[in-house]
Amino acid sequence: MSQAPIPSASAAAGTHPLPSYLQADKLGPWGNYLQQVDRVIPHLGSLGRWAETLKRPKRILVVDVPINMDDGTIAHFEGYRVQHNVSRGPGKGGVRFHQDVTLSEVMALSAWMSIKNAAVNVPFGGAKGGIRVDPKTVSQGELERITRRYTSEIGIIIGPTKDIPAPDVNTNEQVMAWMMDTYSMNTGSTSTGVVTGKPVDLGGSLGRRDATGRGVFTVGVEAARHIDLDISTSRVAVQGFGNVGGVAGRLFHETGARIVAVQDHGGTIYREAGLDVPALIRHVAETGSVGGFPNAEVIANELFWEVDCDIMIPAALEEQINAANAGRIKARMIIEGANGPTTPEADDILQERNVLVLPDVIANAGGVTVSYFEWVQDFSSFFWDEAEINARLVRIMKEAFAGVWQVAQDHKVTLRTATFIVACKRILHTRQLRGLYP
Ligand code: NAD
Repeated sequence: MSQAPIPSASAAAGTHPLPSYLQADKLGPWGNYLQQVDRVIPHLGSLGRWAETLKRPKRILVVDVPINMDDGTIAHFEGYRVQHNVSRGPGKGGVRFHQDVTLSEVMALSAWMSIKNAAVNVPFGGAKGGIRVDPKTVSQGELERITRRYTSEIGIIIGPTKDIPAPDVNTNEQVMAWMMDTYSMNTGSTSTGVVTGKPVDLGGSLGRRDATGRGVFTVGVEAARHIDLDISTSRVAVQGFGNVGGVAGRLFHETGARIVAVQDHGGTIYREAGLDVPALIRHVAETGSVGGFPNAEVIANELFWEVDCDIMIPAALEEQINAANAGRIKARMIIEGANGPTTPEADDILQERNVLVLPDVIANAGGVTVSYFEWVQDFSSFFWDEAEINARLVRIMKEAFAGVWQVAQDHKVTLRTATFIVACKRILHTRQLRGLYP
């Protein structure tokens, strides 16, 4: 029998190859995240010793989610919950229901949550979850059973002081209510703090529904001042008109900006004079998509990236802005509402073309900031009014963005690398203070 190899000195120093499941997807969102980490390591000084920790999720859970379907058959769905890093506090991050969700995508999303939570300095680590399901193909009853079984399966690692899920693509307040109820039934007491993004009547926070879009808008306004861009006369293109894109689009529209193009899964619409945003929001609520909206031109999806605009807001899925279209974008500023919408290659092209990118890890942090407020309110059972929540949100977003802007100037790096510098230093500093157990 051959003996196990003795670890080499380099292995002891933490430079041995990553486990196979972390290497499986060199491309894709997880590969993009790894490249982003590599770009920040030269700026970490002595904390760089701990950097490997950022490339390895702390805990990965893959679960089988079997349910009875309405037609009497049994269907199995694949579910995930990944806790990327919990050095700064409990894991925190949304749950995505989508037919294309994969483990490596959830790993990337959980890692970006670690960076984001540290960037705005809320006391959370990073986590994310997902189920491979297209919610449009199941009934409401089936969706509830999928949600409840998934929550039971991941119940061994979530909890108000362990890991707190929230909404993401295709999940909403109702899904959070089912998750909260299932966890509470299993533990024997009502536990509102186990998820955020709940209905207000169940311990949810005022302002949470709009929080991510409001944060996108807030950092957009701050950044626009630095590049002499007048928001009130700007032209904006939005990809994804759900929770994030819809709210951000509405807030820009309310300042006088023209929303000239919107794309969602149902197609792309365009109007040079600006779309009627309140009517579009009603249309999407009634029909589920921007498709068929009157008073707008329908254009090919590919043309969205060439639309004449000043600001582009990707607020749908990952890798939408890539090497193939980054060179065609006309906007002066991109505000990442989505997580991971820009690949590292596209980042380089945009930087070369002097397009300012406000990265996801700061631009869409408004949602988790108000999730933090919700969690605090649940613990104290004392609820704040919406004006107070919005004022605190705007203050945190402005301060965090100002800090990142300064680091970008000091280090002569992009805002993405600057945000990673701020966040990774915070994460690795706590890692160092805590030391290795045992
Ligand atoms: P949502 O489900 O409310 O909306 C998603 C939108 O994306 C919809 O308009 C949908 O039609 C569109 N879309 C889906 N596939 C598309 C495609 N192939 N092409 C164009 N559009 C497509 O989801 P959301 O909560 O608004 O999340 C959107 C993005 O923002 C995701 O990347 C999510 O991770 C990120 N995000 C969400 C929050 C939050 O609080 N909800 C917080 C931070 C980041």
